Amino acid sequence: MSLELVDVSVQFHRSGRTPVPAVVGVSLHVDPSCILGLVGESGSGKSSLGRAAVGVYRPSHGQVLFNGEPVRHLGALARPRNQIGLQMVFQNPFESLNPRRRIGSQILDGMTRSGMSRKARLKRMTESLEQLGLPARAAGRYPHQFSGGQRQRIAIARALAVAPSIMVLDEPLASLDASAQAQLANTLRVLADDQHVGMLLISHDLAIVRHVADQLAVMYLATIVESGPTADVWSLPLHPYTEALIGAIPTADGKGQLPIALTGEVGDPAAPPSGCRFHPRCPYAREKCVRETPPLLDIAPGRKVACWLHRPGRTLRPPAEQDPGDLGAPISLPHGQDVLAHTGGLTTT
Ligand code: SF4
Repeated sequence: MSLELVDVSVQFHRSGRTPVPAVVGVSLHVDPSCILGLVGESGSGKSSLGRAAVGVYRPSHGQVLFNGEPVRHLGALARPRNQIGLQMVFQNPFESLNPRRRIGSQILDGMTRSGMSRKARLKRMTESLEQLGLPARAAGRYPHQFSGGQRQRIAIARALAVAPSIMVLDEPLASLDASAQAQLANTLRVLADDQHVGMLLISHDLAIVRHVADQLAVMYLATIVESGPTADVWSLPLHPYTEALIGAIPTADGKGQLPIALTGEVGDPAAPPSGCRFHPRCPYAREKCVRETPPLLDIAPGRKVACWLHRPGRTLRPPAEQDPGDLGAPISLPHGQDVLAHTGGLTTT
């Protein structure tokens, strides 16, 4: 029971205008019990990829497979029985929960096509609420009677009630305060370990994702630029964008952990920069980066990166320590600085 995305692209069509490629050629794999954290700034295409992964968006290219079978585009249709084990939790639980219906009814709805008896469904509903730290009596209440963190737990309990093997969670932690974030992150880890649920955890917040995710995939402007085991990526980020994301995470003194952080904004996916899409923001950019797109390569066991500074067979080193070799002369950044200044944080709204 795994989720596999093979060379998936998603385009948004605009009447009379060029389509916007929101996702370009992404391949990912999510296994049971494994949390894959998909991180990147807003506008990178993470949510579009998540929706394509569960059939909400139809890929314009590539394939999404759940348990080896193609995931059907849902449209207005209910999820087919062979895809019930693939569930999505949306970012805003207030929008995904019906304010006029009791929580219990909404959780039971999801199990209608499960084939379970009503008695089994009621039992499962109570279990899933309790697994998310909510009392069974929550079933008789309405969404507005809960806090934001509790509503997010309810949304996850609803997905969990059908005993999914894979869940796609789109920014489940974004609207919560730090304490609720930590609690929910711990709960997700427990669900993965104890219930063997695999998760694609979409978030702009690398700081919290790194505590729960087994694997990381970093997305920039519709493409994956780096992936690998979380501990390895965190301790030695290879792509300058990953390095900058980590560098921007504030420490207790309010500064980033690395001397550099990211400036500028994610480009326009309808008109991405030439060559490496990150080059207008990259402090290591050279002439070749402007001309040619670096492929996502297996650079070491389990690690992939799309950056001309890294090649298979080379020793893994931080971007600043890699020999640029034949990449040509450095290029100036459009922000008027050759070395990125410390900003202390990213714009992720
Ligand atoms: Fe920076 Fe060049 Fe690597 Fe792109 S390919 S991340 S511009 S060094």
